[in-house]
Amino acid sequence: MTNNNSKPTVLVTGGSRGIGAAISRRLARSGYDIWLNYRSGTEAAEKVLEDVEKEGGNCRLLQFDVSQEAEIKEVLEPLLEEKTPYGFIHNAGITRDGLLALMPTENWDAVLNVHLRSFFLLSRLLIKPMLSERKGRIVAVSSVAGETGQSGQVNYSAAKAGMIGAVKALARETARRNIQINVVSPGFIETDMIRDLPMKELLKSVPARRAGRPEEVAGAVNFLMSEEAGYITGQVLGVNGGLYM
Ligand code: NDP
Repeated sequence: MTNNNSKPTVLVTGGSRGIGAAISRRLARSGYDIWLNYRSGTEAAEKVLEDVEKEGGNCRLLQFDVSQEAEIKEVLEPLLEEKTPYGFIHNAGITRDGLLALMPTENWDAVLNVHLRSFFLLSRLLIKPMLSERKGRIVAVSSVAGETGQSGQVNYSAAKAGMIGAVKALARETARRNIQINVVSPGFIETDMIRDLPMKELLKSVPARRAGRPEEVAGAVNFLMSEEAGYITGQVLGVNGGLYM
């Protein structure tokens, strides 16, 4: 592990797999230290930690469920006494798909809690020190489903649309203090999340006729975290091969 304490730190939720892992590696290459959150896959998280360190970043694994306030506080509050992260990438996510008419209440609650309640809990904790420091960035990973609505995903579409509204409102609350808050909105990206979907059929609706790579989402996040993006706030950047324009 490197010991360069002067580097800015970014909290990445759901950093152990898929898009979050790619974001963690990419931001480490850009010179950030990473606080890498995950829920259960310690082995996968340790592998990403190694990759982050190879890219020159310090990496700290933070295991907590992003929807659980007590877990978040227990892990993050002591760390926030020492350091304010420059960035927060709100990426952790799940799906519990099914038609609304048949959807168990637990599947509605689980998806709304992991995507939206977590955004509230984590942003509330991080935004105060960011406001005091008069700098900070938040990038939320939403989805095309939140922009267009997706059949079989009323819960997920609601959560992802809610995230966009929350980002825009919070961006207005914080812009004066030099804090930029944006959304990256992916289409189909090759990760475990879409493993069981009928991709051959679904890709017919994508003008690029392919799924995206996690690295292509990470590139967009990296741009929004860069100095050049300092005048961009409250925006939704699609990474979707033309699926939604
Ligand atoms: P993956 O299923 O590959 O990875 C999900 C990550 O989130 C894992 O690291 C997982 O950790 C973590 N996670 C899940 N639930 C929790 C929780 N309650 N608390 C903390 N961590 C949690 O998903 P993707 O990489 O595909 O998705 C990342 C984000 O991108 C999600 O928000 C998703 O909705 C969004 N997205 C993905 C698309 C795609 O096509 N793949 C398209 C559009 C948006 P662990 O394994 O430890 O549970």
